[in-house]
Amino acid sequence: MHRNHVDNVVPLKAPAGALPAAAQVVILGGGIMGTSIAYHLAEAGVRNVVLIERNSLGSGSSAKPLGGVRATFSDPGNIKLGHRSLEAFERFGEKFRTDIGLHQVGYLFLCRNEAEVLQVEDSTHIQNRLGGSSRMLTPEEAQEINPFLEPKALLAASYSPRDGFAQPSKVVKAYAEAAQELGVTICQDTEVLDIDASGDAVQAVHTNRGSIRTSTVICAAGAWSTRLGAMAGVHLPIQAVRRQIGMTPQLSTPFPTVPFTLDLSTTLYFHNYLNGMLLGISNQDQEPGFCREFDYQWLPAFNRAAEVVAPALAHQELDVGWAGLYENTPDHNAMIGSSDTVHGFMYATGFSGHGFLQGPAVGELVRDMYLGRESFMDPEPFSAARFAGELSPLREVHII
Ligand SMILES: Cc1cc2nc3c(=O)[nH]c(=O)nc-3n(C[C@H](O)[C@H](O)[C@H](O)COP(=O)(O)OP(=O)(O)OC[C@H]3O[C@@H](n4cnc5c(N)ncnc54)[C@H](O)[C@@H]3O)c2cc1C
Repeated sequence: MHRNHVDNVVPLKAPAGALPAAAQVVILGGGIMGTSIAYHLAEAGVRNVVLIERNSLGSGSSAKPLGGVRATFSDPGNIKLGHRSLEAFERFGEKFRTDIGLHQVGYLFLCRNEAEVLQVEDSTHIQNRLGGSSRMLTPEEAQEINPFLEPKALLAASYSPRDGFAQPSKVVKAYAEAAQELGVTICQDTEVLDIDASGDAVQAVHTNRGSIRTSTVICAAGAWSTRLGAMAGVHLPIQAVRRQIGMTPQLSTPFPTVPFTLDLSTTLYFHNYLNGMLLGISNQDQEPGFCREFDYQWLPAFNRAAEVVAPALAHQELDVGWAGLYENTPDHNAMIGSSDTVHGFMYATGFSGHGFLQGPAVGELVRDMYLGRESFMDPEPFSAARFAGELSPLREVHII
């Protein structure tokens, strides 16, 4: 029998405290972004930080069982966010005394037409210029490191050995616990109902459990951010789209270990999941919306693509599945910044399917923006102002 849900919400040691009457900063949303920002602010000495989560920590998109981590993008900003986060994930175990299940098995992007080859070659050059170690492979070389692949279906591939995957719920838990130890108040089961931004400045956050006076809110509410932005009069254009994954049964003899493998033509992807395999694809027929029920609508597309690029993975039995939301912006890149029109309204949202891997770096970036200090990169290209035609568009072309 197929189970249709993997429960990954994060149990937090301390129960939700009473809602404080006032805070220096109120963070909206308790996923990877909200908890990373809370931790980084508190670590830098910011006091009286409150994080509001309407359900449990990690109950949004950050509940994904395993999340890919990589710096293989085509836009310098995304590459820098990926690198910075990879460094943080590599040090995570030691710093937070926890195992986040980091497996640096590499990422393998499959190219099946000339346009993809040119695009990936170009991206590989940019990644290497910025310190990455990705390289192009022939179809035969790709098959050597991933025996599931059918080399005749490929023109080339790119391989980045430092990338891999880790467990989002463990990262959320570690950030949340460390933030709590540093004095952050985490309020679960608390829903933001309205934001008072009268006089074009944030004044208070109203929740189902009372109100908090504050001059700064940071919206980290993932797919639900458009609604929260609108409460303050800030436009955060995000379209929620259901994405689903399936896991094969756990085998007594595990599958061979393969890189996190993505087919650019179809968005099919797969990687090891303990002794099984995790399979996914973007379902082109999926209507935008907030449905998170798991079903098998995506499976025929996965099987059709797998028959071509990885035939042994087509028509696999699935044991368990999970449905979450991509939080897509119009250009499939994140929005990180401060509102120009509502003083004290900051946002880190719209990660368009890359939020886990960018979480640690974005926590640092938002901390530095809040403190008004120089950061490891310039956040301006990620400002939501680009959707009002005020900035140039980002270069990123991968929409996986
Ligand atoms: C199938 C699938 C595969 C993915 N694979 C990857 C991957 O391999 N690598 C990767 O990096 N990313 C991946 N992602 C994307 C990644 O999961 C998200 O980008 C990331 O989790 C977003 O984190 P977040 O903190 O911004 O949002 P969320 O984790 O969604 O957190 C937002 C929180 O805000 C809360 N909230 C909403 N409204 C309110 C309100 N009114 N009041 C209080 N709280 C509220 C929600 O309950 C939620 O907990 C995948 C997503 C899916 C669906």
